Amino acid sequence: MKGLDDILLLGDPRLYEVCEPVEQEELSQVAGWVQDMHDVMAAIRTEYGFGRAIAAPQLGIMKRLIYMNIDKPVVFINPEFTYLSDELFELWDDCMSLPMLFVKVKRHQKATIKFLDEKWQEQEWSLEGDLSELLQHEYDHLDGILCTMRAIDDQSFKWRR
Ligand SMILES: [Zn+2]
Repeated sequence: MKGLDDILLLGDPRLYEVCEPVEQEELSQVAGWVQDMHDVMAAIRTEYGFGRAIAAPQLGIMKRLIYMNIDKPVVFINPEFTYLSDELFELWDDCMSLPMLFVKVKRHQKATIKFLDEKWQEQEWSLEGDLSELLQHEYDHLDGILCTMRAIDDQSFKWRR
C-alpha cells in the first residue's frame, strides 16, 4: 500500500514534467492508480489534516489523471478547461508536495471542466470558488506547474504551524 513516503516533494524533477494523456487501453490500470492516490491522500489527511484532491504525477504516475474525494470519490481522466472566468480571486493555496507551505495565488472564480470518468464517459462540470481553484491547482500538476510558480509576489509564502 502506498503511503506518505510515496508522494513526490517540491524539487523532484518529475513534478515539472508535462503528463501524457491516459489511453483508453490503459483504463484497466486506472483503478490501481486511483487506489494508490486514495491511499496516499488518506495518509496526508491523517498526518497534516488537509487534502481534497491529488494529481497522478505527485506519485510519479506521469498521466493526465486527477482524483478528488470531498463528499464522494471522483476520477478526472484527461481533463480540459472549456471555460475560465475573467474574474480572479486570491487565496492561500496548499499542496501535498509542499505540505508545510502556503502560497498566495490568484485563480479563476469560475471554470468549466470537461473530462472522462472511470467508465470512459465524457462529463462536463461547472465549478465555482473552492472547487474551481482546487481543480485549477490539480490541473496545473498535469502540466508540470506548482503553485509556487504562481505565487503573486515575493511575500506570498507562509509556513504552516
Ligand atoms: Zn498540489
